[in-house]
Amino acid sequence: MPCIISSPSEIRRALGQWFDVHKRDLPWRRTHDAYAIWLSEVILQQTRVVQGLDYYHRFLTAYPTLPDLAAADEQDVLHLWQGLGYYSRGRNLLRAARMVMERHEGSLPDDYDALRALPGIGDYTAAAVISFAYGKPYACVDGNVYRVLSRLGCMDTPIDTPEGKKVFRHEADALLDKTHPARHNQAMMELGALVCTPKTPQCEQCPVSEWCAAYKLGMADQLPIKQGKIAIKERVMNFFFITQSVGDEVYTWVRRRPAGDVWQGLYDIPLVEPDANADDLDWTQLLCELPAGGVLSSPVYTCKHLLTHRRLIITFYRVELPPVVSGVPAQFHSDYFAIPMGELRQYPFPKPLNTFFDKISL
Ligand code: SF4
Repeated sequence: MPCIISSPSEIRRALGQWFDVHKRDLPWRRTHDAYAIWLSEVILQQTRVVQGLDYYHRFLTAYPTLPDLAAADEQDVLHLWQGLGYYSRGRNLLRAARMVMERHEGSLPDDYDALRALPGIGDYTAAAVISFAYGKPYACVDGNVYRVLSRLGCMDTPIDTPEGKKVFRHEADALLDKTHPARHNQAMMELGALVCTPKTPQCEQCPVSEWCAAYKLGMADQLPIKQGKIAIKERVMNFFFITQSVGDEVYTWVRRRPAGDVWQGLYDIPLVEPDANADDLDWTQLLCELPAGGVLSSPVYTCKHLLTHRRLIITFYRVELPPVVSGVPAQFHSDYFAIPMGELRQYPFPKPLNTFFDKISL
């Protein structure tokens, strides 16, 4: 299949020279340590560079090497991951590290298929690690690269279709500088991040505008094309922050969230979902079963939280149970267990719960 983008060798050269001068100085660009590069890539899929820097340093401080990470407790890893969202990616990070210990003697493999076989490592991450750390000629295709390619070739194939993925993969491979794959891949992404931005591409400052078809046709801001947006459903969640004084200690209740639902493996507090289906636990009943005399507050904090396919409408209430002088905290549904309030922040919670705890100064 011929290449749609014209003058690939000129683009490669101009892009590489531009990157050498204009690249941001980022710690993962100063290393060939495959583990550090992998960490940075997994983090940067979740957040922007500025916030990503902080997570990158925190992870490397806690787990300086891959064997350190592999030996970590999942709860501690999720705690560090807190705020990045997509907790399955945090869990996959740990699973992949453990698999590397078992299969590859603690070093990330320099083989594309072996990398790709690790949990959470897709085409993009495998190409990034293998080109940045090992200098192998694999093209990275992330959102920035899709955008740059679509504009360079003025390609209107929707990027979110199987056909689009095939076409853009072909263009990325054809354009790749096989002599300097790490520099080329990073330059493509850097151009997308700094110059060829989604809404207002700075074509006048662009090092490859001379060969850019969309620029010549005045179509840069109309590309790339996407076929369709994902339908977002709403989910209403009412959380109840329940406290009880037992002697000098104040207790609250938490649980580890179950598998197969959002925030799997993180912790939450008693939850009532009005639109939960009949198989779900009857939390209204549960609240009725609490010891008599509990005081339910008005909503303390309300927020919306966007996940890939869901908009969560979240409300927090407080419930104060009658204090007892001695004994053990009240018992209710076995999913939840009482912990001293001072230990609450030691558990990994989803972002909306942490925000609520901040609001009530915990
Ligand atoms: Fe993007 Fe404009 Fe450069 Fe084309 S000329 S690659 S549209 S910034």
